[in-house]
Amino acid sequence: MYVLNSLNDLNQFLESSEAINFVPTMGNLHDGHLKLVAEANKFHGVTLASIYVNPLQFSPNEDLDIYPRSLDQDLTYLENISCDAVFCPKSDFAKDAPKLSANLLLSKKLCGISRPHFFDGVISILNHFFQLIKPNNVFFGLKDYQQYLIVKDFLINSDFNIDIHGVPTQREEDGLAMSSRNNLMSSQQRLNAKHLPVILKDIAQRSKHENLADLKIEGIQRLEKLNFSVDYFLFCNSTNLEELLEFEPDTLVAIAVKLGNVRLIDNFIIQ
Ligand code: AMP
Repeated sequence: MYVLNSLNDLNQFLESSEAINFVPTMGNLHDGHLKLVAEANKFHGVTLASIYVNPLQFSPNEDLDIYPRSLDQDLTYLENISCDAVFCPKSDFAKDAPKLSANLLLSKKLCGISRPHFFDGVISILNHFFQLIKPNNVFFGLKDYQQYLIVKDFLINSDFNIDIHGVPTQREEDGLAMSSRNNLMSSQQRLNAKHLPVILKDIAQRSKHENLADLKIEGIQRLEKLNFSVDYFLFCNSTNLEELLEFEPDTLVAIAVKLGNVRLIDNFIIQ
């Protein structure tokens, strides 16, 4: 596997490669990320991952400094799964990224309410990567469903010729969605966190037949009893993220909570 530490390394790799299948990450890799790489490996061409903790998507009071980093282990995982190359830009990579805005209608809902800077930062860094790499295919996890929709919208409205692929959420044995931030929880918090997907799934499954407003209140109360601080618990249209008052096919049931200082998100789509 090629480890590309500079733009020079990247350009040399790109010159000798045909189709590029790109998997952007912030590192501290787990099986969720590796599933994206495995998916990318199925496509014609080479698989290129990136590891870069993007400062543009953190506000000053967020966890940029303590965001978990484990580069050596990440490289071993990627090599073992036959990733062809990994681009690890320097920390100042973001400074040359033109600052773009994400689709307002999609980015100011859900996570965009408590993290108003977030999706602009994501789109700015991805645009920078895409300009340099010009990938044919890109792979994003559906755990971050809002991000997936916003990147998809960005690509549809850009001149890039890039196909986006959404990869289902990978979960721990107890059902918790895998996340780099899971490592930031204390053992007590981690034990507690297993209730999150259970409650979310229960409410999501019942959303087909029960009143959504009542279910939302019940879901929030059950989580708050277990010391989760709920940022949002929403039933949404899975294309435009508008909140739903009544169930419709493909309803997105999405949640963001905090356990102590650790922010966790998850979702299910109910057909
Ligand atoms: P991150 O390193 O958190 O920026 O994530 C990089 C990519 O991995 C994003 O497309 C995420 O949606 C995806 N990802 C993170 N966790 C999971 C998971 N549990 N299952 C599937 N994809 C994931």
